[in-house]
Amino acid sequence: MNEVTPNKEDVYDVIIIGGGPAGLTAAIYTTRAGLSTILIEKLGTGGQAALTDKVENYPGFIGGVSGPELVHSMDEQAKSFGMITVSGQVTGLGCSDEDTIKRVYIDDHPEPYKSLSVIIAAGHEQRKLGVPGEDKYTGRGVSYCATCDGAFFRDLSVAVIGGGDVAVEDGLFLTKFASKVYLIHRRDRLRATKILQERVVRHDKIELILDSVVDEIFGEAMVQGVRVRNLKTGEITELKVDGAFVFIGWTPSLSFLGDAVERSDDGYIITDTEMRTSREGVFACGDCCKKELKQIVTACGDGATAAFSAQHYVERIKGEEYV
Ligand code: NAP
Repeated sequence: MNEVTPNKEDVYDVIIIGGGPAGLTAAIYTTRAGLSTILIEKLGTGGQAALTDKVENYPGFIGGVSGPELVHSMDEQAKSFGMITVSGQVTGLGCSDEDTIKRVYIDDHPEPYKSLSVIIAAGHEQRKLGVPGEDKYTGRGVSYCATCDGAFFRDLSVAVIGGGDVAVEDGLFLTKFASKVYLIHRRDRLRATKILQERVVRHDKIELILDSVVDEIFGEAMVQGVRVRNLKTGEITELKVDGAFVFIGWTPSLSFLGDAVERSDDGYIITDTEMRTSREGVFACGDCCKKELKQIVTACGDGATAAFSAQHYVERIKGEEYV
C-alpha cells in the first residue's frame, strides 16, 4: 500500500472503489490528469486478475502474461502518478442529487472518506452452488480458486463444476497437479470458447461428465466425494474426489450500493457508453457493470473511459463551485 495516509477531512477529486484492472486503469488516468485520487480495496489490489495463472489474450504479450505480474505493474504505475490506496471493505456509499460531495464508508466506520466523484470498480465474485457440504467443506477441499489451491491436490483427484471459460481453463490448470479431473457440466455442451474445449477433449487426465449436476459434496474432516445426478437419466453416481472446484459464474460485489444507482435485474450497474451511472458524479467500470464481454482488456478500457468522464465532471463542478 502507498505510504501516504488519506485524510477524512479532505474532499478528494475521485474515490475509486475496487483495485482490479478497471480500478487501477481508472487510477492511472485520474492521477495522471492531476486529480487527487484514493483507491479503496479490501485485500491487495489486483482483483480476479491477480488469481489468474496466465492471461493469453491481453494485447502485447506473445505467449501470455501472468495475471499477478500484469496487475502488479498496473498498481506500481498508478502509484507512480500519485494514487493513494486505502485498505478496507466499502460498506456504504452516500450520494444525493442535492449534494455534490459523495461519502464512502469503509468497515462500518461512521466517518466517511469524501470526494467530488466516485468510480465504482468493485468487480464481481463467484457464485456458489448452494448444495449441502459446500459451505462446510470450503477451505477443506471445496475451492473457488485453482491458482490459489491447485497445488494442494498433487496426485489427487478433483471435480470441477461448470462449463464456462473459467471452469475449463482452471480445469486444465489443475491437471498440472491432480492425477484426475472430472469436469461436470449441467448441459450437453460446454459454454467455453472452442479453443479451450478442444484442449479439454484432448486431455487424458480430464473426464467430461455432461448433462449432470452436483447435488452434494460429502466427506469427513475433508472432502471425500461428490454426488452427481444425470439430468437426462436421473441416475445418481458418487465420485470419489479429494477436492471440488466450483466455477459457475459470477455475481456483482455491490452489497454496499443499495439503490444509489440504477442496476439490471441481475444486480449489475447500468452505465452509458461514457461509463456514467444514473447518479451524477458516480461512474462505474469493469466487471460490476452490465455488459457482454468481461475481460481484463475491456475492464481497462472501461476504467480509462470512466476516469475521463470523472475528470470532466470534476472540472465542471470545480469550475462552477470553486472558481
Ligand atoms: P460463465 O461463462 O457465465 O459460465 C458459467 C458456467 O457455469 C456455465 O457453463 C453455466 O452453465 C454453469 N452454471 C451456472 N450456474 C450453475 C449452477 N447453478 N449449477 C451448475 N452449473 C452452473 O462464467 P465463467 O466461466 O466464470 O466466465 C465469466 C466470464 O469471463 C465469461 O464472459 C468468460 O468468457 C470470461 N472469461 C474469459 C476467459 C478467456 O477468454 N481466456 C477466461 C476466463 C473467463 P450453462 O452453460 O448451462 O449456462
